[in-house]
Amino acid sequence: MEQEDRASSEVSCSSRTILQKIPECDFLILPGFIDFTADEVDLTSALTRKITLKTPLISSPMDTVTESDMAIAMALMGGIGIIHHNCTPEFQANEVRKVKKFEQGFITDPVVMSLNHTVGDVFEAKNRHGFSGIPVTETGKMGSKLVGIVTSRDIDFLTEKDYSTYLSEVMTKRDELVVAPAGVTLKEANEILQRSKKGKLPIVNDSDELVAIIARTDLKKNRDYPLASKDCRKQLLCGAAIGTREDDKYRLDLLTQAGVDVVVLDSSQGNSVYQINMIHYIKQKYPELQVVGGNVVTAAQAKNLIDAGVDALRVGMGCGSICITQEVMACGRPQGTAVYKVAEYARRFGVPVIADGGIQTVGHVVKALALGASTVMMGSLLAATTEAPGEYFFSDGVRLKKYRGMGSLDAMEKNTSSQKRYFSEGDKVKVAQGVSGSIQDKGSIHKFVPYLIAGIQHGCQDIGAKSLSILRSMMYSGELKLEKRTMSAQVEGGVHGLHSYEKRLY
Ligand code: IMP
Repeated sequence: MEQEDRASSEVSCSSRTILQKIPECDFLILPGFIDFTADEVDLTSALTRKITLKTPLISSPMDTVTESDMAIAMALMGGIGIIHHNCTPEFQANEVRKVKKFEQGFITDPVVMSLNHTVGDVFEAKNRHGFSGIPVTETGKMGSKLVGIVTSRDIDFLTEKDYSTYLSEVMTKRDELVVAPAGVTLKEANEILQRSKKGKLPIVNDSDELVAIIARTDLKKNRDYPLASKDCRKQLLCGAAIGTREDDKYRLDLLTQAGVDVVVLDSSQGNSVYQINMIHYIKQKYPELQVVGGNVVTAAQAKNLIDAGVDALRVGMGCGSICITQEVMACGRPQGTAVYKVAEYARRFGVPVIADGGIQTVGHVVKALALGASTVMMGSLLAATTEAPGEYFFSDGVRLKKYRGMGSLDAMEKNTSSQKRYFSEGDKVKVAQGVSGSIQDKGSIHKFVPYLIAGIQHGCQDIGAKSLSILRSMMYSGELKLEKRTMSAQVEGGVHGLHSYEKRLY
């Protein structure tokens, strides 16, 4: 099995000066026979022993990648998001709750203002969020009495000199508003909106308190999500990461109360007595909860966690885009070999493998799946999308979002949970295992993930595998042929010989 060495990059503060080196060698998959169309390729794959996804894609538990917005979008498209734990247990559980409570079309955490806000605040919110239909409640929060709405029509002709005007003077007042009662279905709400010809429909409870809002623009772009990952109650699936310390047991309790479907034990080296004890604890207290152990890169590591009772393994050490683990700890494994070796061992016990880290292109996803992974976890590929946490900022005219390793000093200074992933208790000197950087705006994952899905389907079609399970069995039977690609073959396989070109992927 040829190892897939990752491109390393020279340290620099600007992405544009980073020189991507070509690996000494990597591999390609030889094409097979095609007798089906790409969209017939079935990407259904196991996330854990008991959870199956229609899209084998997972967003990483990193504080610049997965909170509720990302987890909702990933689940809608058939994957799953794992909420990071570089935050308080209460915050994390609340993010999980938002995913589990998500009802398509109903916005439960809109920008809300009070009568103390001014026209200037509305303009500022409009600049920041790009819309201006803002409900006004007594306290300026959800769950408080609705007193009006400010829409673009209310402020269209106002200028800077009106910025200090209070909202009570410009808003559309409560008695002029069309509202719908809590419990209304999306279909009914849709009809009310159409009849009223309004842009926003506030949903209020019996005490006239605001519980949600529906936007006409959202309804218009409401798509069907036939692949959506849902539990038996038709709620979206959601995962969350935890550590292996005593206080993580409290976090675990809150997460299970919020309805989490799967917990990921977040450790860069998972083969430890702490993780094994935690697996035993969870399996005893919450036998139905799916537990992902890791990270591991060898069969020996995997064995201990499988013996302890994990439902899936997360594979990767040192291959993440923001990772300096291999450089600092001299520990890890090239990702292609790690995925192949662990998956080949774990499949004997029915334990699926998640290939975690180092996914830079859709081709890398196909390679990871062909090497035996059931699903793929991504950080950098999903960072800087609309759904990733954090605000966009500009640098040298480029629109960026922050992306950082959870073992970077930057992340570890925020809170102690990411320290726990990368430090031993009592460590006096911090040794960073990651870097902090930025990534160019990628737009919404509602466009990006469909591209990934179609790309994987095309890859499988070329290989001649009509499903991911066929792909894996072709690999284990020897039907799948992998061929080493030298450095010069990689140059030949990339764009070359052009004076300039534009690379648009979808
Ligand atoms: P990426 O998709 O290549 O950006 O890698 C993301 C993966 O890198 C995550 O899912 C983690 O497993 C891993 N990771 C996150 N933060 C760090 C870090 O600070 N050091 C090393 N690995 C990290």
